[in-house]
Amino acid sequence: MNIDFDKNNGLVPVIIQDSRTRQILMLGYMNKEAFEKTEKESIVTFFSRSKNRLWTKGEESGNFLTVKSISIDCDQDTILIQAVPTDTVCHTGSFSCFGEKENKGFLYELETKIDERIDNKTEDSYTYSLYQRGINKMAQKVGEEAVELVIEAKDSNDDLFKNEAADLLYHFLILLKAKGFSMDDIEEVLRSRCR
Ligand code: AMP
Ligand code: ZN
Ligand code: ZN
Ligand code: ZN
Repeated sequence: MNIDFDKNNGLVPVIIQDSRTRQILMLGYMNKEAFEKTEKESIVTFFSRSKNRLWTKGEESGNFLTVKSISIDCDQDTILIQAVPTDTVCHTGSFSCFGEKENKGFLYELETKIDERIDNKTEDSYTYSLYQRGINKMAQKVGEEAVELVIEAKDSNDDLFKNEAADLLYHFLILLKAKGFSMDDIEEVLRSRCR
């Protein structure tokens, strides 16, 4: 990557964005050394203007920023890093330096919970036990729940219909996760179709 470190006395502004939700988390600065360390470790290290030294975000708090992707703007003088934060990013305790966590709704919270169950290999969780049975089984469950929803759609019981709709969404989220995708990816496809 050919970054223009000369423009601002060796410092380039770096926008940190949550790779999962696209929320802007904070802004910091990097010199060449900080950038190379960040690239090498996949953990964000800035150059702190107040400390006047390299500053690995999380070095005291333990709330690190794990790098998912790095991109450079059109004239190579601003860096955008998509990252996953360990926990709250701002030293005031709020999730982002630009305010509390953007509320993307309950389905995104559920998606995060499903991620956790699977990533933490939670033994007594239905989510993780289904995940362990493999893609075919998860896909089959989505099919079954879809059929059940179709059946309830023809009936007149609202509660059963709503429950099957919930089953379908839940299993759909597990299948997405197992395929390595998130709701954001699907949202992107849907957005691109919007006129
Ligand atoms: P940390 O890097 O999270 O261990 O925090 C170490 C110190 O860096 C804190 O005591 C703050 O002074 C400062 N700091 C941490 N997070 C931020 C942030 N998001 N924006 C500005 N300063 C921060
Ligand atoms: Zn620029
Ligand atoms: Zn802050
Ligand atoms: Zn069902």
